[in-house]
Amino acid sequence: MHSISRKLFLYQIVLLAGCHSATPAIAASGSSTVSLAYMARLYTMKTSRSGTRIRMENKWNSLEFETNGRRVWINGIMVWLHHPCRGSGNNWSIREEDFKKGVDPILRAYSYVPKKTPKVVVLDPGHGGKDTGAIGPNKVYEKNVVLDIAHRVRKHLESRKITVRMTRTGDTFPSLPDRSDYATKVSADLFISIHADGAGDASACGVETFITAVAGGDSSNHYGEGADTFPVLNNKFDSANAVLGFSLQSNHVKASGRSDRGLRRARFSVIKNAPCPAALVECGFLTNPSEESLLNSASFREKVAGGITNGVLGYFTLVQRAR
Ligand SMILES: [Zn+2]
Repeated sequence: MHSISRKLFLYQIVLLAGCHSATPAIAASGSSTVSLAYMARLYTMKTSRSGTRIRMENKWNSLEFETNGRRVWINGIMVWLHHPCRGSGNNWSIREEDFKKGVDPILRAYSYVPKKTPKVVVLDPGHGGKDTGAIGPNKVYEKNVVLDIAHRVRKHLESRKITVRMTRTGDTFPSLPDRSDYATKVSADLFISIHADGAGDASACGVETFITAVAGGDSSNHYGEGADTFPVLNNKFDSANAVLGFSLQSNHVKASGRSDRGLRRARFSVIKNAPCPAALVECGFLTNPSEESLLNSASFREKVAGGITNGVLGYFTLVQRAR
């Protein structure tokens, strides 16, 4: 735990050291896109091209864009854009909202996070009671796994003198509105919903983190979501969500050792109605026999809890440095 925290702290310093100007910038007034060439100048990065990837890097940070695709790897961690990177030749761009509410907040968090030190973290173990959530082939229930992980995260955060509240502490079933209402009632500064995945394909595996899709932007979940792209309450925290989500996903991947499915966007009820920066963490697939076995072991759940804890602490560190 301590060594992971120390690594994270050093990593954040590296991120901060890579920053230049505190002024968010756009390629051209009135433009809805930001060119990769502009970003290379802004971050003082060298650009190289290999097949369908455009890589940009400086001493501290790297960006690797997938041409005509929605994925970018930021310091090796997959981040899903709302829209594909488009262009030709040496002239490629991403949409302005993906730059302002995704890439740039992650690279220059200090310009975007709320300056107020977070005090109350709400943990939301998914499902519960009559709602089992995903069930593995060996009958491991999501509702039990995520409750145990949440208790472990709570213990770690409370040992750092952080106030933690939980939407459920036992095998009960708060409704989805109850969960975000609870966050409002206790004046949450951060809201973290904890889940484990399920899929029809037993080979599906890995960890992913969801944050609220920006107004008008497509989601990147794998459930299909309809065409609801209206603004939601949580859009107020779009940039801070990206900072929090990236910190959670990068630390979760490192701690668990599972494959990286990326920082994704969706309009799940509990996060879109959260009154503060919010994220939903998926801790692996119970429908995958190997990951079910891992999630059934206390030692793996402790690793996952360590990753989520360090993700929250990483966000705290960035807020403190932004003040
Ligand atoms: Zn779930």
